[in-house]
Amino acid sequence: MLKKDQNGKIRYSVQLTFFIIYFLFIALMTGLLNTYPTISSRDAVFSTKQSMMLSQATVMASSLSALESLSGENVTQVMELVDINSFDRVIVTDANAMTLYDTTQTSGSLGRYALFSEIVGALRGQVQFFCSYDGSSFRSRAASPVVSAGEIIGCVYLYEYDGIQAAYIMDIQARLRSISIIAALLALLAVYVFTKALTGRITDLVRAMRIVREGNYDYRISPRGRDEVTELAQEFNDMTQRLQSTEELRRRFVSDASHELRTPLASIRLLSDSIAQSENMDEGTMREFVGDIGTEAERLQRMTEKLMRLTRMDSSVQTQRERVDIKRVAEKTVHMLTPLAQARNITIFSELDEGCIVTASQDDVHQIIFNLAENALKYNSFGGNVFLRLHAAEGTVKLTVEDTGIGIPEEDLPHIFSRFYRVDKARSSDVGGSGLGLAIVKGAVEQNGGTIAAQRRETVGTRFVVSFPAAGEEAEYDEA
Ligand code: ADP
Repeated sequence: MLKKDQNGKIRYSVQLTFFIIYFLFIALMTGLLNTYPTISSRDAVFSTKQSMMLSQATVMASSLSALESLSGENVTQVMELVDINSFDRVIVTDANAMTLYDTTQTSGSLGRYALFSEIVGALRGQVQFFCSYDGSSFRSRAASPVVSAGEIIGCVYLYEYDGIQAAYIMDIQARLRSISIIAALLALLAVYVFTKALTGRITDLVRAMRIVREGNYDYRISPRGRDEVTELAQEFNDMTQRLQSTEELRRRFVSDASHELRTPLASIRLLSDSIAQSENMDEGTMREFVGDIGTEAERLQRMTEKLMRLTRMDSSVQTQRERVDIKRVAEKTVHMLTPLAQARNITIFSELDEGCIVTASQDDVHQIIFNLAENALKYNSFGGNVFLRLHAAEGTVKLTVEDTGIGIPEEDLPHIFSRFYRVDKARSSDVGGSGLGLAIVKGAVEQNGGTIAAQRRETVGTRFVVSFPAAGEEAEYDEA
């Protein structure tokens, strides 16, 4: 039952430990149950016998004390009047311990000295009592001095053999022994069954942990009962469920990322092979091919930057948060995107209130506004409009980015924040999209304590609404 763990240390089985503790406890209880009642009944018998025999001896001694001196005849006369049947032996001696009267006639003790210790003690003036129990009988002896006119003239000695009370005690003892053996066996059986069930459930848990550790995240325990071990099993299942979803996300992320990276790489390979293999390519075509390689490389670079940003977000490294004036960041972003807007003949309308200050990472805020505004331009129609609004009310700063573009179908709205999700793959690829922009936006918004929602506009296009809790008033934002 003693096993060694992975480090070579001895592992104690819970079942064995429980078993030993209960065994010792039960052995102690059984021992107490078997000895204490016997000892107290024996003591009770001792004290009853003591009071009964001493009073009898005293009564007999006082009957004899009426005599001036004791002789065989006068003692026998007195003793015939006394009830001595309850004793097995009655002896009366004179002051020198010589036997004058003995109910055990056959012993031939008359005229001899009876030097029992009780008699010797009684002749010294003290009443004597002694009782012994040998497991099958009580043997009791009592002696009392016979005092006449202040002088000890003899002694009365009583002896009793009692097998009945001893048998009674032995019977109780035997019953207690049987009861306690049955109770101990039942208790040990109960402990065995209970610990077997408990350790069985713990072993199931340990086995499940090993299975999951090996990578089988589908494995679940079926919880039994309603105790702490059940709670542990449920927690384990929840944890495995989370591990499984995280693992699935991770796998999907890696496979999507490699798939996305493969497309521009394949284009680059194809273009470079074409250049290498064609012997007399004209300069114009060559330039066009090299330009395409550059565009693909740029796309790769953008994608890897976004992937790195997402990985940083996943590692939950806290970015430095500070007081950020969103209006300033929005103005800078609009300025950066003006060439793209002009290229598509799109007008950006800005309606930005002053004093919209949040506690956030400046870089995250820039990413949020940039990605939303860039999408509003990318997925817009030629000559369309983009509206950028910023308001603060009731402790909330609200940023709205609207466009009059192609819009997002209702059924795609719940998915657009997922990594690599693109409504129209062809269109997204045309405009250099990777399906990562909105995932980064959502991650950045949530990391800075905000929320984001996407809606279809009533007429055409899409509306994104980002809300942040406004920063407290305590430190005034430095305008400089
Ligand atoms: P991408 O890099 O492809 O633009 P995003 O995560 O930014 O990736 O967007 C996910 C998808 O959501 C896009 O592929 C596009 O189909 C859709 N989308 C995002 N913004 C808009 C918008 N303003 N109008 C229409 N569709 C949009």
